[in-house]
Amino acid sequence: MAANLFSEIEYLKGVGKARGEKYRKLGINTPYELIYHFPRSYMDFGKYIPIAQADPDEFCFLKLTVTRKTTPKAVRSKLVVCKAVATDGTDNIIIVMFNNVYAFHALKEGETYYMYGKVTDGYVSREIHSPVYIQENDINMIQPVYKLTQGLTSVMIRTNMRQAVNIMKSEPFETLSENIMTKYKLMPLMKALEHIHFPESPETAQLARERLAFDELLKLQLGMSVMRTRTRRSTAFKMDEKTEIKEFFNGLPFELTDGQNEAVKEILCDLCRNIPMNRLLQGDVGSGKTAVAAAACYFTAKNGLQSALMAPTEILAIQHYKTLSGFLEPFGLKTCLLTGSLTAKNKKILCEKILSGEIDVIVGTHAVIQKDVEYKNLALVITDEQHRFGVNQRTALAEKGDSPHKLVMSATPIPRTLALIIYGDLDISVITQMPKGRKPVKTYAVTGKLRHRAFNFVRERLDEGRQAYVVCPMIEDSESDLFAIKSYAENAEKQDLKGYTTALLHGKMKSSEKEEVMKKFRDGEIKALICTTVVEVGVDVPNAAVMVIENAERFGLSQLHQLRGRVGRGEFESTCILITDNNSDDCIKRMKIMSSTADGFKISEEDLKMRGPGDFFGSAQHGLPPLKIADIACNAELMEKAKICAEEILRDDPELKNPENHSLRVDTLRLFDKDITG
Ligand code: ADP
Ligand code: MG
Repeated sequence: MAANLFSEIEYLKGVGKARGEKYRKLGINTPYELIYHFPRSYMDFGKYIPIAQADPDEFCFLKLTVTRKTTPKAVRSKLVVCKAVATDGTDNIIIVMFNNVYAFHALKEGETYYMYGKVTDGYVSREIHSPVYIQENDINMIQPVYKLTQGLTSVMIRTNMRQAVNIMKSEPFETLSENIMTKYKLMPLMKALEHIHFPESPETAQLARERLAFDELLKLQLGMSVMRTRTRRSTAFKMDEKTEIKEFFNGLPFELTDGQNEAVKEILCDLCRNIPMNRLLQGDVGSGKTAVAAAACYFTAKNGLQSALMAPTEILAIQHYKTLSGFLEPFGLKTCLLTGSLTAKNKKILCEKILSGEIDVIVGTHAVIQKDVEYKNLALVITDEQHRFGVNQRTALAEKGDSPHKLVMSATPIPRTLALIIYGDLDISVITQMPKGRKPVKTYAVTGKLRHRAFNFVRERLDEGRQAYVVCPMIEDSESDLFAIKSYAENAEKQDLKGYTTALLHGKMKSSEKEEVMKKFRDGEIKALICTTVVEVGVDVPNAAVMVIENAERFGLSQLHQLRGRVGRGEFESTCILITDNNSDDCIKRMKIMSSTADGFKISEEDLKMRGPGDFFGSAQHGLPPLKIADIACNAELMEKAKICAEEILRDDPELKNPENHSLRVDTLRLFDKDITG
């Protein structure tokens, strides 16, 4: 059987079991997926320079004629060194290859090659080490550079790619109409997919990239819109604008900030309309989003309707439950906590109360969206720390009720361009100021040598009555990390934190254990909490005023900012000490940014710049499908184009159901991994 685009990758010539395995490691299972494995960059052999201008220790392009090859020499048992003398007419250079006898034999005396490799100062003359090369008459002067995996070379990928592209050309496909391609000046898809891998010039490579990035952004917009259209019906829950809420404000232990008041006003106004609210509430960590959410729940309950608040972790759900019940129960409203660790019996009792409408406000984790939980009249759904949830879960909660109002709370300040895509036509409320009296957290970055001094400082704060977090990195499911944090905690107890009550908190603990530790920490019984990023989101213990972050280099900027947001939440001056021995430029930059600003927006923008949207978006955390080629931060213009184009397509076919949009629909679903089927 001849291979087609969706055959197993092993159907390609030269791809056996071993190489197939390697492709699968890169997420490539079929020739189609291979074609969508785009180059990271290109080598343009046209950029060659004279030998004399090649700086030692730099990677350079040279155009060389081989004058004399010497016999390969086995230097050690596993090292064969191959050498050849070459010239570019201005100077001589020695080509050195290690072990790669095959590539060396392919070089012919008297012939000319374009080469790319590291130039060094050898004993006798300049050398170029392990160059990649192409022949002088090769028509592909621009060669793609791929993300590799051990044992898979660019040459292998290129050979397999050639065949895959040929298969593709024998069964061509296109997702956009001629009209759209002309209007937005886009290259046909077949041409783009060929030229992204085998460009004739830097310009064609660029055009191919543009077409493919456009496709991706278009699909992203289409997918998000289709999803929204499906949830934008009229709501059954138009509330009464005369509902009295003053009593609630009077009962709060503090006065709302102007930003909070403004957000509450916007939300209540939405709740009184007959289309569902679709609002994002953004506010930096500690800006007081929970109180705003509580006001919305109060208002909803006063209208005789139910609200649900979903938090990404159990710790956070418990905390929200405490806060909300504290705010709401004095007014006779009923709240409950619904998490995965309820016993079946208790869950059943709760579910009955939820269905009968006895409970007004349901707080919980993913448990609140499970099929077996039925509501009487769910009118408002709030998701906290939204970036932790996938698109799926958000929609699932929204579909629980009869087109309920939706409020999404996020502490990750997202630059406007990104917010526009992720949240499309969501309305946005931003709380820009912090509650009165908040002092910015003083942040210092130090090396491990200063650890003891840092802990002197921590002990002083503890002696003053404050509490501390000591955060250690831990990759989920990493045995060695788990071991490391356990022994770290033991050591701390014996040394740096001797005499103080400490406790360990990590994701591998049972939820009852976690909650017990959190309770003791909240109650001030535990002075120092040695923990992982389980405290990252939302944990609120105002008396905790100092945080030490170990191996700070292992955290991204946004994550550090979230972590740091656990302190500085009360009236006390707070400090965050970042400990790292990593002196890479990247790490130093991150530490500098952390020490110099407390502005979440600025930090997330820097984070985006440093990590690139690939990573920023790649993680399922943001709920968006990973993008392969489009660079949202840098492609603002292209994105605008894609947005207009998406609107145009959807105007005629809001759910992409027309036959002419079939392949676009299939492709969109593929990008979203079928999240939006239905
Ligand atoms: P976040 O926006 O990070 O979710 P929280 O809602 O957890 O912030 O609030 C952070 C802390 O600030 C809480 O301890 C809360 O009680 C307190 N807080 C919220 N609003 C105000 C306010 N207007 N004045 C004083 N303290 C406030
Ligand atoms: Mg919060």
